[in-house]
Amino acid sequence: MLDSHIAQAITQAVEDGFDRQMAFTKDLIRFPSIRGQEHSVQDFVYQALEKRGYAMTRFSMERDAIEAHEGGGKYSPEHSDAPIVIGTYSPRETHGKSLILQSHTDVVPTGPSDMWRFDPFDPQIDGDWLYGRGGADMKAGHAAMISAMDALTSAGLAPAARVEIQSVVEEESTGNGALMTFLKGHTADAVLIPEPEEEMLVRANVGTLWFEIELRGTPVHVREMGEGANAIDGAYRVIKSLREVEKRWNEDRHKHPHFRTLEHPINLNIGKIEGGDWGSSVPAWCKFQCRIAIYPGIKAADAAAEIENHIAAFAKTDRYLSDTPPKITFNGFYSEGYVQEPGSEAETILSHAHQVATGEPLNSFTTPGYLDCRVYRLYNDIPSLCYGPISENIHGFDERVSISSVRRITVAMALFIAEWCGTSNI
Ligand code: ZN
Repeated sequence: MLDSHIAQAITQAVEDGFDRQMAFTKDLIRFPSIRGQEHSVQDFVYQALEKRGYAMTRFSMERDAIEAHEGGGKYSPEHSDAPIVIGTYSPRETHGKSLILQSHTDVVPTGPSDMWRFDPFDPQIDGDWLYGRGGADMKAGHAAMISAMDALTSAGLAPAARVEIQSVVEEESTGNGALMTFLKGHTADAVLIPEPEEEMLVRANVGTLWFEIELRGTPVHVREMGEGANAIDGAYRVIKSLREVEKRWNEDRHKHPHFRTLEHPINLNIGKIEGGDWGSSVPAWCKFQCRIAIYPGIKAADAAAEIENHIAAFAKTDRYLSDTPPKITFNGFYSEGYVQEPGSEAETILSHAHQVATGEPLNSFTTPGYLDCRVYRLYNDIPSLCYGPISENIHGFDERVSISSVRRITVAMALFIAEWCGTSNI
């Protein structure tokens, strides 16, 4: 257990550096780093870490290697080509365990900006809340992991094991950034990812699939509508049929211990739809984008096959769709879920750090959204701790993160690093 003088010095160092940490967080939010536009924020992170003395590496994603892996997200033209950035701290001598701290810099689109209270990329503070797209998910966590390391330095302490700071992209669409770090051989004794998890530890997490369904009909004038297959009407029918898969998978929740008590762990989201050309023509085409979750232990390929078979069987029963079956393309997440079983030493140390930082015991929970932790848990096979600040409206309007919570989790992370890696005096 960490010496109380050391814990005190680290807590004070986080406090002393907190204004700088918030300024850095705001700098990150100002980059509108939606998918494919993360290059400049990744550059900014590269420089911020280089200035601190980390050994820097930067690499691109390799499509062939990613697509050959069972958990590789499927490529589409929108796939980002921004680099992955890693800063490595190496101790003079090692007497603790190594650690990866990981965050993503990609953010989801803002939607109509007039639905926001403030400009989504102009961070604003009101009371305890910091507003901005990506502030909670997860630039506050990103700045917190770097600041936690800074706090150790300010307290005159150096981690006694290797620490890698990984800044990745594609977390919101494929998870390929995290996967690429694994494919490049990066690993450690544990990983900590400070996603906005309400100051709790993620115990279990779903996998995610993305796919697009495209329908084609025969364009005719509306007066001959009976003869033309209406692709948009067809899309409604396919969506209704997909809800049966969602229902079936939700009914399966009792087979999955961490999901039993959740009311609706499997969500099918129809996230985007387009089709047709003209108000008085029967639409000849329609395509829509779907996202669905799967339980840990279910392979993405098996879930994908089930969806394909379901759609094919449904199309055979439908007068129009049987002639022109819907085309399904997997075009993003193709990931399995994970469970971080209790009992790891990493969790014990995080629980203690959390208790010291917040005065509360560390709770754990199951989340129904994708997390990069799956790469480290499933493929690196290391303890994977997803733990971060309190937030509201991530992926929605007025996304915001609690500033006091960011302060607490930064202290907890810094204490965790000190105890997991061990420390020596600078
Ligand atoms: Zn996130």
